[in-house]
Amino acid sequence: VNIPLSIDELRSRVSGAVLLPSDEAFADTVSAFNTTVRHSPDVAVVPSDTTDVSEAVRFAITHNLPVRVQSTGHGATGSIDGGVLLITRDLDSLSIDRASRIATIGAGVRWGAVIAAAAEFGLAPIAGASGNVGVVGLLTGGGFGPLIRSHGVASDYLRGLTVVTGTGDAVEATAEQNPDLFWALRGGKAGLGIVTEVRIELVELATLYAGSLFFEEQHIEQALRGWTEWTASAPDDVSTSVAIFRFPPFDFIPAPFRGRTLLSLRFAYPGSTAEGERLAAPLRGLAPLYLDALGELPVSQVATIHNDPSDPSPVWDRGVLLNDIDQDFLGELLHHLGSGVEAPFLVAELRHLGSGARRDVPEGSAVGGRSAGFTFVLIGAPNPALFETVLPAAADRLHDAIGPWISPETNVNIAGKLRDSAHFASAWPADTFERLAAVRKRYDPQGVFPHGPVAAER
Ligand SMILES: Cc1cc2nc3c(=O)[nH]c(=O)nc-3n(C[C@H](O)[C@H](O)[C@H](O)COP(=O)(O)OP(=O)(O)OC[C@H]3O[C@@H](n4cnc5c(N)ncnc54)[C@H](O)[C@@H]3O)c2cc1C
Repeated sequence: VNIPLSIDELRSRVSGAVLLPSDEAFADTVSAFNTTVRHSPDVAVVPSDTTDVSEAVRFAITHNLPVRVQSTGHGATGSIDGGVLLITRDLDSLSIDRASRIATIGAGVRWGAVIAAAAEFGLAPIAGASGNVGVVGLLTGGGFGPLIRSHGVASDYLRGLTVVTGTGDAVEATAEQNPDLFWALRGGKAGLGIVTEVRIELVELATLYAGSLFFEEQHIEQALRGWTEWTASAPDDVSTSVAIFRFPPFDFIPAPFRGRTLLSLRFAYPGSTAEGERLAAPLRGLAPLYLDALGELPVSQVATIHNDPSDPSPVWDRGVLLNDIDQDFLGELLHHLGSGVEAPFLVAELRHLGSGARRDVPEGSAVGGRSAGFTFVLIGAPNPALFETVLPAAADRLHDAIGPWISPETNVNIAGKLRDSAHFASAWPADTFERLAAVRKRYDPQGVFPHGPVAAER
């Protein structure tokens, strides 16, 4: 196939930019959040609308090229080689209907923009931890966020999507139209189509009692053990997580954190400050506090609770889900990550699931991992020299030690780099995985959209 000769034809059919590797803007356009990832598609298309997406998919079918899609690049764990890469950044429309509480959002929009726009109306989206993550990428994997226990999974709030299928046709996916595709896109993630727009229902929420309590290295064990015990009977509408941060001694890191190992205990309660204070009291008393950054928080600040980084950098991550955890689990965890241990991870994070995470929508959805008790994610940054062997080996050792607590099921948004087809399949319950394969076959009969562990390598 002589693609360059056909590029003029593609350019004449789409109104957005069509870029080749020789174009100056190409490298910037295809760059990912993880800067060790270097995508090299044959062509990058920046669609201006759904029609452009349809044209690009038809072009790919004609030339037998795979089609992939990138919004913010937060999900990029491996470099894409060849094919058509759609960049959704110009699909940036965002409108809110106050009466119905429905936000209509283009596929290039990040959560931060939705949070800010919704807050103007005293509303909030149920999102993930970071405002920089893309709306569509998170929703199609489910989306476990800082309000997971009180409000459930982000994709529970999806009311409809506009999707370009593997034949290049634009269709609607709602509870009434193509309900199988709607079911699949709520958690089934890739290989189903290119989403150009979503409609989500916002919730009435103006303030939270939320933020983080920080404990110094010598109190990590006491705080962690106390928190774990507390989670066993935690209130249904309080969402918490803990993260051990090993902050490097870099100048750009704020002084209170620079060069320190700290435990951050995040807390989010969507109710009054008085009740929030009462509910948080046992956690404040777990161990001596280093910093108390927990209080009334306008919902516009919900994405600050987790303190996720906003700038692209080299990053490595691996996530699993855990069943219920106990003091024996903590013994193993502290042996590998506790005070005085030289661990290579920048962050090790446990998020408490249960409650809202377990409640599926009445019509059902493809979200994987609803039944798990906790997420457990290891993150390494910014030294790429550790990514090939040191971090994977340390993660393997730790995972072997906590094996009895690891759930056989994971979730596609938190799994990190997919290692093989078994790892991909583990992101859903077996019956959901089978049903997803059938929906993919129906909406992408020729397999135009690669997915799973092959997605990056192909
Ligand atoms: C700092 C950080 C914080 C995170 N926090 C959370 C969290 O709290 N909860 C959680 O559940 N996950 C979280 N994630 C994981 C995140 O939800 C996934 O990586 C998600 O895929 C990112 O979507 P994106 O559009 O930003 O990234 P991209 O890399 O642009 O996209 C990732 C994938 O999403 C799919 N996708 C994106 N756009 C489209 C589209 N238009 N049509 C069809 N498919 C599309 C594709 O499969 C694509 O490969 C986090 C990730 C990072 C890096």
